[in-house]
Amino acid sequence: MKGGHLTLHLRLVKACNADCSYCSSWQENPHKRISAEDFTKAIRFIRDVVVPVMGCGGPHSMVSMQYVGGEILLVPKAELREMVYIAREEMAQTFGHVRDGVQSNLVGSERRVLELDTLFQGRVGTSVDGRGTQRTIKGNPDAYRKVVERSMQTIERRRRKRPGAVFVVDGQGSTNAAHEVETADRLGYPLVLRAIFQGGSQIENANQDQLVAAFTEAFDLWAMKSGVLVEPFAHLLRKRLGNVHLFDSVCPFQRDCAQNSINLDPDGSLYTCFEMADSGHFGFGNAIEGRFDLDVWEQLRARRDIVDTKCRTCPWFDACQGGCMNEAVHDTGSLYGRPDLCTVWTALFKRIDALIQQHGKEEVRSWLSTCKS
Ligand code: SF4
Ligand code: SF4
Repeated sequence: MKGGHLTLHLRLVKACNADCSYCSSWQENPHKRISAEDFTKAIRFIRDVVVPVMGCGGPHSMVSMQYVGGEILLVPKAELREMVYIAREEMAQTFGHVRDGVQSNLVGSERRVLELDTLFQGRVGTSVDGRGTQRTIKGNPDAYRKVVERSMQTIERRRRKRPGAVFVVDGQGSTNAAHEVETADRLGYPLVLRAIFQGGSQIENANQDQLVAAFTEAFDLWAMKSGVLVEPFAHLLRKRLGNVHLFDSVCPFQRDCAQNSINLDPDGSLYTCFEMADSGHFGFGNAIEGRFDLDVWEQLRARRDIVDTKCRTCPWFDACQGGCMNEAVHDTGSLYGRPDLCTVWTALFKRIDALIQQHGKEEVRSWLSTCKS
């Protein structure tokens, strides 16, 4: 357990106003939106029934609530505000610190974008696709880019910085990852490179060689040169530098996520995270209906203790933790398997260790501390 901390993914709506190639959220129950009444019921059930079993909570604990898509801008403004306030107030009864943020495609009017920014006081993240055709509006990638660029500039004018962004590395994205790192560096925003999961329909999965090439090329471009944080590079580098506490693991490098992460879908379904929800993997109940399937949750929790043979003797296990449970299920059919992305992480760890060897820990630490988050 990570000091009783919890990450709570909250999905208020399945619908989306974009149609990205790697995401199926907009196709599944597109009209399903949770009501404020059901949301309150669900939040209280999570807090009073699920959280105590997970061992979270307490005066020194923190809950980090992340509103994820569907597209949050499709929730009417007043309803959204009501639910965000409800979640803050209800969770403050159990957690010492309550934090929240939102992931939005920022496809909306300037006014809506600014309202969202105000509600979350700048804790807004988005997704980018600077030159591919992954992210489109009605099939048009330029229309998508245009509106997102306008929204990014709108937020930048107010906050003096752009929102952080996610770039999905799938088959097409693998050729553009380095370009996205350059763009983030040039415009000064933090970036997350996310290897594609397999939950969407018609996704363009990259093969392992493409992913290894994309991630290592992007790392080489970033390391010791960039002025912004790029994940997962910064996290793995910190781990190898010994700068991160042992229990400070983040996706996709954690094996105890069942104990520190929950996803609530708009129909009340409970999963470990939105990736598990998108994949339909191991739902453990329904918070609106008041069901918590303890047997399934215990199976999820067991990944903490059941470690793949190769991971057990891996020199990078402390940093990698055996990778992501959701990817393990996709690749091996087992909650306790070793994901195929092991090849990518292994290649990155070799790069990282060579970098530290070349420059020394202090020089690398000093450069990393200058990167903007
Ligand atoms: S790099 Fe591969 S073998 Fe090592 S811990 Fe990660 S998944 Fe396991
Ligand atoms: S299953 Fe993977 S994506 Fe989900 S919380 Fe665990 S590490 Fe993160």
